[in-house]
Amino acid sequence: MSSLLIKNGRIIDPASSLDQVGDLLIEDGQVSRIGRGMGAPGLETIDATGLIVAPGLIDIHVHLREPGREDEETIETGSQAAAAGGFTTICCMPNTDPINDSPTVTTYVVKEAEKRAVTRVFPIGAITLGSAGERLAEIGEMVEAGAVGISDDGKPVMDGQLMRRAMEYSLPFKIPVIEHCEDLNLAAHGSMNEGYYSTILGLKGISRTAEDTMASRDIILAELTGAHIHIAHLSTRGALDLVRAAKQRRIHVTCEVTPHHFTLTDAACCDYDTNTKMNPPLRTDDDVQALLEGIADGTIDCIATDHAPHNLNEKMLEFDHAPFGITGLETALSLALTGLYHTGKLDLKRLVELFTVNPARIINRPLGTLRVGTAGDVTLFSLDSQWVYDVNQTKSRSRNCPFHGMNLKGRVAGTIVAGRIVYRNAVLLPVG
Ligand SMILES: [Zn+2]
Ligand SMILES: [Zn+2]
Repeated sequence: MSSLLIKNGRIIDPASSLDQVGDLLIEDGQVSRIGRGMGAPGLETIDATGLIVAPGLIDIHVHLREPGREDEETIETGSQAAAAGGFTTICCMPNTDPINDSPTVTTYVVKEAEKRAVTRVFPIGAITLGSAGERLAEIGEMVEAGAVGISDDGKPVMDGQLMRRAMEYSLPFKIPVIEHCEDLNLAAHGSMNEGYYSTILGLKGISRTAEDTMASRDIILAELTGAHIHIAHLSTRGALDLVRAAKQRRIHVTCEVTPHHFTLTDAACCDYDTNTKMNPPLRTDDDVQALLEGIADGTIDCIATDHAPHNLNEKMLEFDHAPFGITGLETALSLALTGLYHTGKLDLKRLVELFTVNPARIINRPLGTLRVGTAGDVTLFSLDSQWVYDVNQTKSRSRNCPFHGMNLKGRVAGTIVAGRIVYRNAVLLPVG
């Protein structure tokens, strides 16, 4: 197999406390050496001078829409958007058509990804059949087929007894139970955060209590069962406080936050742009402050995009009727660098951790590090490159993104999966 040498970059690997300028060699798909002054005639070489060399980024919360809605995204196009965003591994949620609630669908996703995806793709299986919240899905068989976690994302598991059984069932497989925390009765069919802005806009609100109470129930059930509960797209100060307290009591709880939830508030809904409609909704300034605190103090384990491609025609409906969700794979790292690193809220080591070793631990895979002998998945990025996100250049099949036209600082230069370059930015990493 081929070899690839990455020269003169600033190599950052939080898992092995490495931060040094040097060279990194990938052979046969694995990291084989880190050092200085390496090189040999004929060896494929990337000049990474001035760039960060990080473990390949991992996004554990992505919607790929295949099977069923290939007009919105496919495994192939979603993985290309992921690569353009610096991600080498993505996990896809089961709310496809059909729902991934059986080993047949899990196997389809795995095989299709092997054939067409440019990144690693790990499926997440459903908790309940059809994500209908009535009977458990074929969890063991899906794990055997390659599922790395279970979730009914898009819907919460409203039945507490069923959630308890799902957690008990998950234990021998060492997989996270991933919950979209939302009490549907309290959410009351709202379309944005309940508060000042929902009142002045005349839109139905989703109470923050809907998220807090469900997070509370799930944490209590995780304590009871010993299972690993992972809270998806945490968005409120209340839920964050619950996670912080649960971690202090050594309950196995982890959580993720999305770039849109730490970047925007519900004030962004003011022009009724449906690209500001997502679930959980954009919250208040106080919630954003809480998330920033949680990111800084380690309560929040990772950043995940909740990349949710939607057809333009469906997003063009009025705010109340448009579907929830936005695309986010191509802007996540830059939003984190712009909003967290360049503002001094977070150092680079911790930022890289949130995208690499921490999500790898949540899905229990030996990725997210540059240790010798591990997968040769690498993300190269510039800290200071300034650019404007143009959604018309997206690799995704959908364009429902609120960050179009935004000025960003820090940009992906190249993405390498198992030693193969799957994305290179023509300006930052020109060929030859
Ligand atoms: Zn969700
Ligand atoms: Zn989601």
